Parts: sequence; structure tokens; C-alpha cells
Amino acid sequence: MADSYDLAVIGSGPGGYICAIRAAQLGLSVAVVEKQPTFGGTCLNIGCIPSKALLHTSEMFETAGREFAGFGIDIAAPKLDLARMLAHKDAAVAASVAGVEYLFKKNKIDTLRGTGAIAGPGKVTVTAQPGESRVVAARTIVIATGSVSAPLAGVEIDERRIVTSTGALVLKQVPRRLAVIGAGVIGLELGSAWRRLGAEVTVIEFLDRILPGMDGEVARQVQRILTRQGMSFRLANKVAAVDGKGKALAVAVEPVAGGHGETVEADVMLVAVGRRPYTDGLGLDAVGVKRDERGRVVVDDRFQTSVAGIAAIGDAIAGPMLAHKAEDEGIAVAEIAAGKAGHVNYDVIPSVVYTAPEVAAVGRSEEELKEAGVAYRVGKFPFSANGRARAMGAKDGFVKLLADAASDRVLGCHIIGPFAGELIAEACVLMEFAGAAEDLARVCHAHPTLSEAVREAAFAAWSQPIHM
Ligand SMILES: Cc1cc2nc3c(=O)[nH]c(=O)nc-3n(C[C@H](O)[C@H](O)[C@H](O)COP(=O)(O)OP(=O)(O)OC[C@H]3O[C@@H](n4cnc5c(N)ncnc54)[C@H](O)[C@@H]3O)c2cc1C
Repeated sequence: MADSYDLAVIGSGPGGYICAIRAAQLGLSVAVVEKQPTFGGTCLNIGCIPSKALLHTSEMFETAGREFAGFGIDIAAPKLDLARMLAHKDAAVAASVAGVEYLFKKNKIDTLRGTGAIAGPGKVTVTAQPGESRVVAARTIVIATGSVSAPLAGVEIDERRIVTSTGALVLKQVPRRLAVIGAGVIGLELGSAWRRLGAEVTVIEFLDRILPGMDGEVARQVQRILTRQGMSFRLANKVAAVDGKGKALAVAVEPVAGGHGETVEADVMLVAVGRRPYTDGLGLDAVGVKRDERGRVVVDDRFQTSVAGIAAIGDAIAGPMLAHKAEDEGIAVAEIAAGKAGHVNYDVIPSVVYTAPEVAAVGRSEEELKEAGVAYRVGKFPFSANGRARAMGAKDGFVKLLADAASDRVLGCHIIGPFAGELIAEACVLMEFAGAAEDLARVCHAHPTLSEAVREAAFAAWSQPIHM
């Protein structure tokens, strides 16, 4: 093990591990510091991967129970073996974290187990356990320490009955009633997964809408679909208190505007009110690395902090808390450290909600365009008019493309429907190349595919859809 590196990353989440690999590929000597027993951070261990495993298997369970008969497949009512379902999730996690370890070895990246802190510019202390530390030198230090679940004032998490997303991924039995606090992506995804397995789910949200930040029309449609699926919503409501003395939790809920409240009874309560950057204990103040009022490390457009030689990426800095945003920043920082021109285009960062149907967005929403005074055209196409969606029995949702009224350049794409998370990539590529709706409409798309709906939305924005 060396004592000195070109680049040392603190944290092995998608920001940190991708940064390390890219830097090593570019010829830098690299070390990664990680305090958890496995690599991969929130995303691989307690975030994206386990949640998507549970979402996938719970969706199959529901499909088998509710939809197979309609397709002419008669089976006995499916029985849930939750332990095996969770074992599948754990296996997906284990394979993913093992993959990162393999890639570290393959790229000759040194892994330093322990808690990292910055002892001074160019110096990282790694504490494996109290009293057992070593210091390594690094020309570039990258803070990639991610985020943790935000607390809810007055509510104590026990990860058993009152859980964060981490506890919600390992419940030993399906709660009869699940209260979800927060109608953001994590609340709706995990709420959906447990509802499909039999929980009665009530979502309590402070704002008067779900999925804040997403296009309003799309969010309203998602809420209609989730309600039809059996989820219930208390919007513009807040949790006033939680009483856990009885057998069930008594969640006191009050309208934000004031007035009569109600008590929602729940066996498990999931607190999903957001995440906050995890930047404490790194010695940042002592070294002079500035943080903003929300604890995020302040960086310039080259991801450099207020101290030369220290960069920061991912959930620990401003911007959407998304794995692929962290990854792209990791790549950019590695390239900058290797003397290249690293860059992230924040106008083209997709976001996906893995409910059924999925919801995906990239670029600007209608609300944002209106606020910015940009004249735009809307091209919309429903999946009910797409042959492949009909063949799949997946007719809910639409593709909405927003194009500049003067230039036809695509400014945003919003999809609710089957495989929306995959379909959005086409809009990302188009937007990255500053493409117009007409460009997309003129690209030949295979038939019958869901992507034809994206093309039709482009036709609708530029001229007219064919199949409407
Ligand atoms: C339930 C859930 C589902 C999610 N689903 C998605 C999704 O589908 N798609 C998506 O894009 N995003 C999703 N996210 C968000 C995504 O996980 C994060 O945006 C992403 O993990 C951020 O990456 P990061 O590298 O910045 O930090 P993290 O992944 O949080 O990694 C930080 C790492 O740093 C380590 N660390 C912290 N401090 C120290 C220290 N002092 N010394 C050593 N190591 C340290 C931590 O142990 C951790 O391993 C989800 C999150 C959750 C909770």
C-alpha cells in the first residue's frame, strides 16, 4: 500500500467509485476510503439497487395475482414468500457490491477501510478503529461522502416500526397499514412496493401535490393512477405527533392551513422527507472547506471547493440527489484531475420514479418554461394509441415533449408509462445534441415499440402525430 496518491476519494458510492475507476483508467494512482464493510454507498447497498429489486419482484407478484387471468393465464392465487423475495434483493445487492470490489482490483485502486477525514490540504486520515489511524497524501482529495435520510422533527426512528428507507427495505413482514410521510420519489416507490404485497398505504405530504419538482400534469396523472391502485393521499397535511405506546402507531395529522386534524393508524411509518448531505466529521471547518446553510460542500463549476486540491461531488454538493448525477460528477472530477476538460451538463439529467407505470423526466417542465417566459409547443401522445403498449396491456400514461416555439429545439420530455425510465434516454441523447422535435420525428423507429410513442410526441410537437 502506498503512502501517497494522485487522487484519494472519501466514499465509495456511485460518485466516489466511478471517480476512482475513471481516474485510474486515465493513469492516476488512486485510493478509495470507505467506512462501511461493503463498497457502493447508499445506491448499491440501501438505495437504488435494493429498492428496484423489491419494486420489480413486488410488481411481478401483483401482476401474477391481478393481471395473468386477463391474459388467459390461469394460476392459483400467488402466495408471497417474503423471506425469499428479500433474499433475491440481498443477492442483487451482493452481486453489485462485489462488482465494485472487482473493478477496484482490476484498476489497481487501493482500498483503505475506515473513516476518512481531511487532516489538511493533501492529507487524508483513515481511522480503521479508534486509536488505529494512518495518514495518506493525495494531490487531489475528492469528498464523495453522500447523504443520509433527513429526520422529521419530533419523530424518533427505530428502524423497526418507525423506519427510514433503510428499514423499509428489510421489514420482516408486510405491515397491515403503512403510513408514508413524504410523497417524493422514495416514499412513492417504497409505498408502492409494500402496497403490492398487501399493505394499506396512506401517504401524508406537506405540499399540495406529489412529486415536487416534476411536471404538474404528470404528477397529477401519477396520483390518479396510484390512487386507483389503492394508495391514499393526505396532501397539504403534516405530521403533528406520533404516539407509539399502543399496539399501532397513532399518527396525528393536521392540515398545513390549519383546521381539524385526524389520526392515521399505522403498523409501520416510513419517514421519507428527503435526504441531507453527510459532511460532518470530515474536518472541513478546520481545513477551511466552505459549506452552505444546508451542509452541502460549496464547489465551483470544476467541482473545486474553497481549498485548493479538494474537490467534492454527488449528494454531498448541491443538485439533484441522484446516482447518475453523482457518477457524472465523479467522471468529470477524475478527468479534471488528469488534466482534461471534465464537464457535466445539468440541463440533461434525467430523473425516474420506478412506480408502475414508471415516470421519467428530463429538462424543463411546463411550469419552469412558463416562469422563464419561454414560448414553447407541447407534443403529447398517449400510450393507449401505441400498438405495443396495447399488446402489453399497459395503456396508462403518455409522452409529453416540450419544444421551443421558435427553434423547435427540445427543452424537456416527460413520460408516464411502461418503461418510461428506459424511453427517456432517447430524449436525453437528442437534447445533449441540441436536437429539435423534427429531428426526432424523422428518425426511423422500430415497430411495434414503445419508443414509437416518443416519436409520435415529437411529431405532435413539430407538426402532427400520425396515429391520432
Ligand atoms: C431508497 C433509495 C432509493 C434510491 N433510488 C435511486 C434511484 O433509483 N436512482 C437514483 O439515481 N438515485 C437513487 N437514490 C439516490 C442515490 O442512492 C444517491 O443519489 C447516490 O447514492 C449518491 O451517491 P454518492 O456517491 O454521492 O453518495 P453515497 O452513495 O451516499 O455514498 C457515500 C459513501 O461514503 C461513505 N462515507 C461517508 N463518510 C465517510 C467517511 N468519513 N469516511 C469513509 N467513508 C465515508 C459512506 O459509507 C458511503 O458508502 C436512492 C436513494 C435511496 C435512499
